[in-house]
Amino acid sequence: MSRDRKPGIYYSFTYKEMFYFLFRKKHCPKCQSVMEKHKNYTITTKSSDLPTGHYGGYSESAFSTGGPVKAYKYFFTCNNCKSEYTLKELAYRKG
Ligand SMILES: [Zn+2]
Repeated sequence: MSRDRKPGIYYSFTYKEMFYFLFRKKHCPKCQSVMEKHKNYTITTKSSDLPTGHYGGYSESAFSTGGPVKAYKYFFTCNNCKSEYTLKELAYRKG
């Protein structure tokens, strides 16, 4: 059996971010155009590098193996005015 280390996967949302992500229409705060969703990740091997205080989930045994973990994060871009916002910025935006 091979013991290659498949990266674990980590997502992190606050409750507010989750709600926005699932239920809200993603319109650009500047020009109201519909924004496009993107996702990127950073790879880390330390749980202390991950954001804390969030509702998140680790894939099974992500850190118990000491292997790398992909921490995903979502952001949105506007095709019209080229603005870019993180999920956090949008979820906590006033108004
Ligand atoms: Zn825009």
